[in-house]
Amino acid sequence: MKKLSKKEAIEKIEEFFKDIKNKNPKEIKKIKKLAMKHNIKLKEKRKKFCKKCFSPRLKIISIKNKIKRVVCEECGYISRWKIK
Ligand SMILES: [Zn+2]
Repeated sequence: MKKLSKKEAIEKIEEFFKDIKNKNPKEIKKIKKLAMKHNIKLKEKRKKFCKKCFSPRLKIISIKNKIKRVVCEECGYISRWKIK
């Protein structure tokens, strides 16, 4: 991979996340590394994939008390996100 400027890296990440559902964990891991390398915060994008296995196949299981629970269909890891 050629060296990217920070701006190019941000563009690449934005583009990548538009089509996140069709990405595989290996690609997601790579893009996360790219973000870390350039010190780019993923913010909301972090919620688009499982933090354990990097699968984008997440399913909402419940929303209550402003907490959204999402299960990873790949490894079963449950993440909880506070809704603002
Ligand atoms: Zn998972």
